[in-house]
Amino acid sequence: AKSDGRGLFRVFERGMDTKLQARRALELDLRAAIELQQFELHYQPLVDVVSGRVSGLEALIRWKHPERGMIGPDEFIPLAEETGLIVPLGAWVLHQACTDAVAWPGDVKIAVNVSPAQFKGPELVTAVLDALTLSGLHPARLELEITETALLSDASGTVAVLHELRAKGVRIAMDDFGTGYSSLGYLRSFPFDKIKIDRCFVREIETSADCKAIVRAVTSLGVSLGISTTAEGVETSAQLEHVRAEGCDQVQGYLFSRPVPARDVLVLLGHCIPS
Ligand code: C2E
Ligand code: CA
Ligand code: CA
Ligand code: CA
Repeated sequence: AKSDGRGLFRVFERGMDTKLQARRALELDLRAAIELQQFELHYQPLVDVVSGRVSGLEALIRWKHPERGMIGPDEFIPLAEETGLIVPLGAWVLHQACTDAVAWPGDVKIAVNVSPAQFKGPELVTAVLDALTLSGLHPARLELEITETALLSDASGTVAVLHELRAKGVRIAMDDFGTGYSSLGYLRSFPFDKIKIDRCFVREIETSADCKAIVRAVTSLGVSLGISTTAEGVETSAQLEHVRAEGCDQVQGYLFSRPVPARDVLVLLGHCIPS
């Protein structure tokens, strides 16, 4: 071969460069997108197992990129977290979600994802309270979904912030339950209102006795601790039957609806749109 080690190294360096440049470009794009408000919230229903009613909707962000089209959160939330852009973006999500939810029936809740990075600064409480005040949404209709990662190290006083928000009447849900470390310990560190059982357990509930046992254990834990449980990612009626049998209070997933734009929520709730 003609290429020596040095040549290969240059190619490698150039590869890194391209990656870094792409990341920088995405960061600049993201910064501009926040200024230009190129984002949209889609909403996915949370269905009460017993009544079959939609008791709430989860806000899921999408980036309406002028050239690349609709971009999902997994492609830009991690970068937003690393760069701190999640703080202004998260404030926008809270405000937009509360503003949209005011138009829904009063017993329908709005669930908003809050990233661990949003607990790093002092802005979260202000962002939540501003969103509630400006929209006029009753605090009890707002539910914040956080993952265990937010509680990993409490150097930033996450638990204190959660208590402060809960004292205002906001509900707190633990998201993706069962995917992190020592989930059970975290249930002791804060009085959660809801546990969302990660969809990886629901996906295999028919074929894996372990997954079924885990869902059963979490729901009975919920009953003992007075915490409601939601099964994520329910795609088939067979999965619905299983999570219902195991005692989940709520279900969410493609079986009921994919996330829909705000303008379709009232139709989804069974209300006629005035013509
Ligand atoms: P998540 O909070 O666990 O949200 C559920 C994800 O599962 C959503 O993906 C949803 O579209 C998808 N999903 C719902 N039902 C089903 C199903 O039956 N089958 C399958 N296969 N998937 C289902 P999405 O919208 O791509 O969001 C991905 C993640 O991005 C979310 O996971 C959440 O962690 C994050 N995210 C979304 N919006 C926001 C936001 O506004 N702020 C923050 N910080 N994170 C967000
Ligand atoms: Ca969530
Ligand atoms: Ca989840
Ligand atoms: Ca997730």
